[in-house]
Amino acid sequence: MAHDDANASDGAAPRPHWSLASWLTEGALPTFTVRDTRSAQGRLDPRVKTITVADLVLAHGHACDGLLRGVWAMRALADLAFADEGFDRSDLLVVSKNSPCLGDVAAYLTGARTRFGTHRLDDSLGVGFQLQRLSTQESWEVREEPGFFPANIIAWEADLLRGGRDESEMRELLAVHEAAQWDWVRDVLLPSAPSDHYAARRLKRLELPPALLEARRSDTVNRTVPPPRCVISPDDPGADHEPGDLDDQLTWRARYEAGPTV
Ligand SMILES: [Zn+2]
Repeated sequence: MAHDDANASDGAAPRPHWSLASWLTEGALPTFTVRDTRSAQGRLDPRVKTITVADLVLAHGHACDGLLRGVWAMRALADLAFADEGFDRSDLLVVSKNSPCLGDVAAYLTGARTRFGTHRLDDSLGVGFQLQRLSTQESWEVREEPGFFPANIIAWEADLLRGGRDESEMRELLAVHEAAQWDWVRDVLLPSAPSDHYAARRLKRLELPPALLEARRSDTVNRTVPPPRCVISPDDPGADHEPGDLDDQLTWRARYEAGPTV
């Protein structure tokens, strides 16, 4: 969770950053477990990290109904697909609507990126996601129950993006619209369990939309290389191996200083 820096050193209990309303953090919000590679050319790190809604808000820029609906959808999907292991962000492809909010949730939690061709876009998904594990092609999807989000708010969202509205009216409408969104989040979304209105299922196969860009992602190509047996870098401490002895370190240095094998 993000905390206010002013409270970091005065011994007081940390409090949520202003970017997440206090009423939003009173209950238990979903969290996510993720795994990544350990460096630019590194293997998969067995240690996991926990991502909170506060982390997502800082990455996205604001809290909003879209971000929270995306969180509920992803939690329902994760409960089906990755209940034990969490999201392996070195091995996932995601499909989402091209929405600022849903797209950021998709990219941040899965590690997928449009620039590597692993974040594909399909606006027909609405508030939902499709996921594919790249190494096995296993696929899943999650979709929001039709009608769960009020039609009136959807209509207002579309209308507030319409050009030519008078600013004196717009300045009031934006505030009213924000209040309506948060009312729904507070009264309807938060009391519900992710699986109540977000249906996740396994897919036999996934027909992918085309990639916007495709490039080799270099920081995940060595993800399956096993841990070293004896030659350990002092800068590579980890839960999955113990340091080697001095002879091993000397062997390592000589090999490295000889340069790459062509
Ligand atoms: Zn947003």
